[in-house]
Amino acid sequence: MKVTFLGSGGYVVTADRSCPSILVDGVLLLDCGFGSLKNLRAAGVSVGALKRLLITHHHADHVGDLVGLLWAMAVEGRGEPFEILGPEGTDKLTLSLLEAMNTPPEYTMLKITFRNLSGGEDLGEVKTLKTIHKPVNLAYRVERGGKSLCYSGDTAYFEPLAALAKGCNLLIHDAVFLEEQKELAALTNHSTAREAGKIAEAAGVEKLVLFHILPFNRGFEREFVRQAGREFSGEILIVKDLETLEF
Ligand SMILES: [Zn+2]
Ligand SMILES: [Zn+2]
Repeated sequence: MKVTFLGSGGYVVTADRSCPSILVDGVLLLDCGFGSLKNLRAAGVSVGALKRLLITHHHADHVGDLVGLLWAMAVEGRGEPFEILGPEGTDKLTLSLLEAMNTPPEYTMLKITFRNLSGGEDLGEVKTLKTIHKPVNLAYRVERGGKSLCYSGDTAYFEPLAALAKGCNLLIHDAVFLEEQKELAALTNHSTAREAGKIAEAAGVEKLVLFHILPFNRGFEREFVRQAGREFSGEILIVKDLETLEF
């Protein structure tokens, strides 16, 4: 499995980090936050190669480049349908954004198939779980060629995530805050690095990526890893944009 982080950042784009987006094996995209389309291009991946987009939730930092992505597909004359999966209302959100942004009628030749999910689905390659966040967030487990990853999306500490991530090679978990910011984590339905470590340990994963680090926590990366390491004995990483993990 080849996992490329197109967006490794927080809620807003910075000079070196785009908003959340993860590319799996060049065909499957998890979220498409602000700035991720530019990084997809930079990674040398054609939008035509993408088969599916899995959206965790409808915050702009996770879907900000959705219209740009679909415009790129339409302009490049994509023939085969593109599948978009996400929480309830994903179809409505996509179609209303395309309309509100005056998508030229000729672009509507692009065929999109939608699958609105409520969490708990087993779709073979993809399994889902509703977590704790507002708006509704789905965590995804993806299995391809005998390898597996789990991506939490945005979530407060949520024990059942460990069952979804059980035995995965890689867990990419919300770690927006440090232990001393845990009130903020509870208030905004995000996790601390330590909580991400707890889930990783309970799930028995090989590797943990602490994800969704905010610009104001820049420079504290070692502290994030140290705090997660109090709970999790496996490998802990903080990734950069366009970094690739292969396993
Ligand atoms: Zn977010
Ligand atoms: Zn969010």
